[in-house]
Amino acid sequence: MANLKLSHIYKVYDNGHKAVNDFSIDIADQEFIVFVGPSGCGKSTTLRMIAGLETITAGDLFIGDTLVNDMEPKDRDIAMVFQSYALYPHMTVYENMAFGLRNRKMPEEEIKQRVLKAAKMLDIEEYLDRQPKAMSGGQRQRVALGRALVRDPKVFLLDEPLSNLDAKLRSAMRTEITALHKSLKTTFIYVTHDQVEAMTMGTRIVVMKLGYVQQIDTPMNLYNEPYNKFVAGFIGSPQMNFFDVTLKRNGDTVTIKFATGDEVTVPYEKVCKIHEEYLKGDKTVTFGIRPEHISVNKEGRGMRLIVTNVERLGNETIVYGKLGDHLEEFTLKDEGKNIIIKVVDRDDIEVDEVIWAEPNPEKVHFFDAETEITLMNKIPTVNTVHCRNKGGKMALLHKEVAMPEAFGDVLKGADEFALGIPPYAIVEGKDFELKVSRIEKVDNQNLAYLENDDSYLFALVDDKVREGDMYHFAIANQKVNVIKDGAEVLKAVKAEEVLPGTFSKTEVKENGDRVLHFFYNIGEYTIETAPENGYKINSIDGNNCYKYTYNYAIDREKIRVVSENEPGLPAVVNGYLNYGNIRFAKVEAAGVPMLIHVDDKFDKKNVRLAFDSKDIGVYSTRIDMKLC
Ligand code: ADP
Repeated sequence: MANLKLSHIYKVYDNGHKAVNDFSIDIADQEFIVFVGPSGCGKSTTLRMIAGLETITAGDLFIGDTLVNDMEPKDRDIAMVFQSYALYPHMTVYENMAFGLRNRKMPEEEIKQRVLKAAKMLDIEEYLDRQPKAMSGGQRQRVALGRALVRDPKVFLLDEPLSNLDAKLRSAMRTEITALHKSLKTTFIYVTHDQVEAMTMGTRIVVMKLGYVQQIDTPMNLYNEPYNKFVAGFIGSPQMNFFDVTLKRNGDTVTIKFATGDEVTVPYEKVCKIHEEYLKGDKTVTFGIRPEHISVNKEGRGMRLIVTNVERLGNETIVYGKLGDHLEEFTLKDEGKNIIIKVVDRDDIEVDEVIWAEPNPEKVHFFDAETEITLMNKIPTVNTVHCRNKGGKMALLHKEVAMPEAFGDVLKGADEFALGIPPYAIVEGKDFELKVSRIEKVDNQNLAYLENDDSYLFALVDDKVREGDMYHFAIANQKVNVIKDGAEVLKAVKAEEVLPGTFSKTEVKENGDRVLHFFYNIGEYTIETAPENGYKINSIDGNNCYKYTYNYAIDREKIRVVSENEPGLPAVVNGYLNYGNIRFAKVEAAGVPMLIHVDDKFDKKNVRLAFDSKDIGVYSTRIDMKLC
């Protein structure tokens, strides 16, 4: 039994191909995690890194509490099952299963017990004397599972174990592997390109594409709340329909307008997480709706379509069509107009007929046309709040509060402006009050819908807040964007500063031994770092690491101002950003402008800044990668 932690894992192959990027996940003991995605997305590479069959380029891999990056595969206490079974053809099933244990010099009696127990679980007791060639694919895969089972590992890794089996056997083996996982109470990590396997077996699924994790979630959350268009299209069969549309809000409803000119409306409440800038009718967005979430009618409700094919499967009927009411306008390539609908309980739909389709308003999805990211994030990324400038004060959310100096400086007297306020920038306080309309649990956080005229302000609140309460709050001014005439004139203060620098080593004799010391160099400032970080950077970039430029990311709250005679980075103060409740000095250090958090009395011109190596993240500038 074991939990695993993958922290910022990267894999760059020797030919320079970056197969896995910034893969992070905490896997709890006894989870059944599935990595799924199209061929070549980096699933097997990640699994092989966990197994120790492939080196980890950057990042940390923990099994239990142990960092195992450099541990031999045989010492990791994991067992791997491959697609190809990898059985020894000249050995019997018994010998195949006993082989690994014999190598470990386990007493023969214990081997026998373990093999018999595993054979019983897998229902292959009667084949123990056979050779693999005299067995079917399904039986061979059971032997491969048995060989993993006898080792009683902490973690099972399975790489497409069912893809050589026919559909019926695959489905039976899926059930068996799920049952095996339940009875073994061990952590399973399973790789497949088959979304049905992923959905039916995983407690959580990692969807990957081109080396990047797209979403990590439970099967139902992936289905109901896909983070982007790729996940939406990958999970579910037949695939989700996608259309280019515009959205326009009219009070309580939002009109979805299709390229054909047809319109359908959905209640605003169902799509209230969509940012207002997408609801003005002038921006193309991608509308997604699953075939099973569309109903059809012949009375003219919804969008018209002409039926091009009907598949009657008995329990359900799949209707294929093209939006619009005549075909000659379209070509086969015109994918944006293709529609697939799954209907049950109706048998009156014919090819070439024009019918109408209505999406279920509870099940609509919308994606940004360029980034393809959902417009209905579980926690909306930003609330846009419209404000008036009243001299030293600003009016927003039915209140007037002091205008922070930092805002006043960039507004230059503009009468109207807006604030982009992320939910986490809304904090408990006394400045504002709004009624809590609804509270939603999102990944262990409480998302409150605060009533603000005819829309909502989204905030993260603690467990004490109830629906119907008046919520009293303030805004963490430094965490918001200021928008004037549609342009961002002041960006939220980031949590980190990034400074360019170099990396170096020195070799010294200590008690007769040659010992290496490694340093981050930012301008004239050198910071010694732990030897393991030095070895990491050296192992990734080779001896050229002493010639490259690195980006050093430093948590702003960990930047200290130190006295003249302490080691540090010289910096010149050239102004202030005063947010009222928090104040920053604008400084220039190592040729880079940055902000440091200071108190109200701070008025120095020249300072020295210091930070500890443990608070610094090191990023390659050569290849987009966090090294340590
Ligand atoms: P998946 O398991 O998702 O099909 P892999 O992890 O096997 O994908 O491969 C991810 C990417 O890395 C692919 O583009 C593949 O061609 C590449 N790749 C795999 N192994 C190597 C290797 N030994 N050397 C170079 N590139 C590799």
